[in-house]
Amino acid sequence: MAHNVIAEAKRCLNCKKPLCRTGCPINTPIPDFIQTFLKGDIDEAGRMLFDNNPLSVVCSIVCNHGNQCQGHCVRGLKGAPVEISTIENFISERYLDSLELTKAPSNGIKVAVVGSGPAGITISIKMAQLGYDVTVFESKSDIGGVLRFGIPEFRLPKSIIDRYKTLMLRMGIKIKFNITIGKAFGIEELFRDGFEAISIGTGVTWPISLNIKGETLGHVHYGVHFLEKPEAYRGQLGDSMIIIGAGNVAMDVARTALRMGVKDVKITVRSDNYSASEEEKEYAEYEGAEFVYNKQPVEITDEGVMFADTVCDEEHRLVSVSDTPTLMKADSVMICISQRPSNLILSQTEGLETNERGLAKIGENGETTREGVFASGDVVKGAKTVVEASEQSKRVALAMHEYLQKKHNKA
Ligand SMILES: Cc1cc2nc3c(=O)[nH]c(=O)nc-3n(C[C@H](O)[C@H](O)[C@H](O)COP(=O)(O)OP(=O)(O)OC[C@H]3O[C@@H](n4cnc5c(N)ncnc54)[C@H](O)[C@@H]3O)c2cc1C
Ligand code: SF4
Repeated sequence: MAHNVIAEAKRCLNCKKPLCRTGCPINTPIPDFIQTFLKGDIDEAGRMLFDNNPLSVVCSIVCNHGNQCQGHCVRGLKGAPVEISTIENFISERYLDSLELTKAPSNGIKVAVVGSGPAGITISIKMAQLGYDVTVFESKSDIGGVLRFGIPEFRLPKSIIDRYKTLMLRMGIKIKFNITIGKAFGIEELFRDGFEAISIGTGVTWPISLNIKGETLGHVHYGVHFLEKPEAYRGQLGDSMIIIGAGNVAMDVARTALRMGVKDVKITVRSDNYSASEEEKEYAEYEGAEFVYNKQPVEITDEGVMFADTVCDEEHRLVSVSDTPTLMKADSVMICISQRPSNLILSQTEGLETNERGLAKIGENGETTREGVFASGDVVKGAKTVVEASEQSKRVALAMHEYLQKKHNKA
């Protein structure tokens, strides 16, 4: 493993204008970290990566590297691009347990972070590094958001998320589990109890429904619910499954179901294209999923799904839908057509405005319409990616810091 990483790092040309870097949504300092590593300073390379993106190790595993850094590497023009993700993973994975990352001297100012997915983890680490007294509020019984309760173990080992928890606790971050802000307590109670700024990173956890007849039947499930605890579904998936939707969630559902013994898994798409990354789509195919294009679901029955055939134009837009649907048989059906925010915190907080998609409205620096309350991640942008949540949260942490510094300097 180590030999491969070093050989791969040596292939980097240390370009003056590194295209790999422009392809990275969080502007990772490639090739600087690679050169630092090659000079023998692996700790400094780890620090560079962590400072730029506390979720570096996660991103090295789950990002769409083919479209981002590696897809832009100049080496790729005439052969294989430098495998930046492998080098990043090697360095970041080691740095995660670094003893450098400990509690910063406290400035005594309390901040609350609601949600512990990629957005919440990034903000809480950044704020703790700046000396704030951080408390994370999480509705579930553990941290990680989609990293723990969505992406399957075979793609992202949960042990990595456990190590983030250890790190956060070592940095003095307090974590409260099983507390849904907007239910028992709201933003008002957090301000009442002395939190001076609050960040909301509550993601998009509610599946979007199809709103067609048959959706409430017993053999019909939502992909994000299934991925949260696949074992709970054992015994009711049958031998055949129809998946509706073809994004990354659908790919994870297909691969998980196939590994659980479902023999026939069909991923159905309304158009003639899929929205999952090329890599995830390929994995799903190689593991045995079949893709069926141009199928619009119109009704779900006890036997399967009634689909109408569709026709698309060159830009994959639907141009016509047949009016004679036919039955595709299946024992179980999984709906995977994206997610929206759970409306609790957003709807229960006075002065917090949302847009027409129910997402938190924010200004340039992540400030919501309620003073002292910031938001980042999927709850702002809709279902996106880990690296986008981390990139935005990093900027929002700085904005919270500026806000609090101004407030205290005035006082
Ligand atoms: C199945 C699946 C696979 C994916 N695969 C990839 C991938 O391979 N690569 C990639 O880059 N992205 C992937 N994504 C997208 C990525 O995971 C998300 O963009 C990212 O997790 C968003 O981070 P977040 O912190 O905004 O939200 P989340 O990860 O959703 O975290 C939100 C957290 O807030 C908590 N919460 C919600 N409401 C409250 C409340 N009122 N009070 C307290 N806590 C609350 C939730 O329990 C959760 O822990 C995937 C998404 C899914 C669903
Ligand atoms: S584009 Fe490729 S070769 Fe050039 S600096 Fe980036 S990783 Fe190295």
